[in-house]
Amino acid sequence: MASTLQETTERAGSNRDLGLIDRKSMIHPFTPLRTFSDGETGGPVVVDRGSGAWIETADGRRLLDGFAGLYCVNIGYGRPEMAEAIAAQAGKLAYYHAYAGHTSEPAALLAERILEMAPANMRRVFFGLSGSDANDTQVKLVWFYNNILGRPTKKKIIARERGYHGATVMASSLTGMRFYHEGFDAPSGPVLHTTVPHHYWGAEPGMDEAGFVAKCVADLEALIAREGADTIAAFIGEPVLGTGGLIPPPAGYWPAIQAVLRRHDILLIADEVVCGFGRVGHNFGCDAYGIEPDLITVAKGLTSAYLPLSAAIVGERVWSVLEQSSDARGPFAHGYTYSAHPTCAAAGLANLDVIARENLIERVAEFAPQFQAAFQDAFAGHPHVGEVRGTGMLAAIEFVADRDSKRRFDLSEKIGARLSAAALEGGLITRSMPHGDILGFAPPLVIDTNDLDFMIEKTKSAIASVFPGV
Ligand SMILES: *Cc1c(COP(=O)(O)O)cnc(C)c1O
Repeated sequence: MASTLQETTERAGSNRDLGLIDRKSMIHPFTPLRTFSDGETGGPVVVDRGSGAWIETADGRRLLDGFAGLYCVNIGYGRPEMAEAIAAQAGKLAYYHAYAGHTSEPAALLAERILEMAPANMRRVFFGLSGSDANDTQVKLVWFYNNILGRPTKKKIIARERGYHGATVMASSLTGMRFYHEGFDAPSGPVLHTTVPHHYWGAEPGMDEAGFVAKCVADLEALIAREGADTIAAFIGEPVLGTGGLIPPPAGYWPAIQAVLRRHDILLIADEVVCGFGRVGHNFGCDAYGIEPDLITVAKGLTSAYLPLSAAIVGERVWSVLEQSSDARGPFAHGYTYSAHPTCAAAGLANLDVIARENLIERVAEFAPQFQAAFQDAFAGHPHVGEVRGTGMLAAIEFVADRDSKRRFDLSEKIGARLSAAALEGGLITRSMPHGDILGFAPPLVIDTNDLDFMIEKTKSAIASVFPGV
């Protein structure tokens, strides 16, 4: 046994070229296939370890992770209590399934814990492994609900332009970004997209926020009128848009949208994969914006990504229909091998323990004004900055060629990618958001004032290097 372990260590060791092994073996998400494979674009970046808000690469570079992985490592890297909880559960019972009424202690306790934190109308939790599969579950639940109610035509889902809901066949169809669709035969389900609530780009000249909200509502009403409310099952939205550009909604947006949905008997799915568990200074984004959803999707912050886990949280309205129909219909015919995975659930419980013990959600609420002000003060006046926006511990800087006319940079200039590459040179990870020249920031919720200063300084240097003399 000992020699096997040693062999494994050697195989992964520096005497073999891990980069070469990777390029010849793996397909990476959102990475150019041939040039990466052939080594032309450099990389891979081998990430070796992490502690707090910092990661370290195999070649010894320390980087401040200003995006918490993919805004998921909310409690920061390298927590011994997480490793201990995972090891303890793996040693006792790494896995058992949840089919036919089986459970494990961490799965049951985590479901209860999620319901305690969620809005009061939430009743049950269905576990998956990713945000994408949880959104697929939501769509299946919504269709099932309308089938039970004898409304077989009420099936379309309204999502929003620039919304992000994942990458499976259905979730990518919900996603409102062209490059997730092109080449993949998406949208492939009955999905409609409505106006993204981004005042900066969507408002007509001179239109204030209230006027713009009225426009979003009118666009939604027109879409529903065109399609027929009896064909529309649900509306899905992130409380704050994430991958689409870190876009907080204009004041009054959610209550106004919600009123329309209620009037037309359309369910509301809140995709809280980014906002959930503290990112915006509340348990959920719904709490921040007065959203009363029928279904809630969570993933990233649920385990801080120490292990994969997601959940579709089901509210009273849908649960009561599902429950009442089940005697006639038999067992609920949906599930994944890894639904309610005990070790992942143990990671979820340990993560929520850390969040509670360290008051991380309250801490975000307290730190957010300073965090937001730092970005406003440092960048809002720059001649190439169109907008600085954010909420909680989400911030974005959007760059334009001309502020007055809001003319965008030519895509070929790759401004966003160059800015994040320049920041990386300085030791800071930021995310060049896929939709426009946008730098995104979503650090672990545990960063301190020194880390914030570092983020601001390195971003300033990056901007100065990409726009010399401006
Ligand atoms: C990341 C994300 C998803 C998809 O989660 P995966 O775990 O990558 O499948 C869904 N919705 C939102 C809002 C996300 O940010």
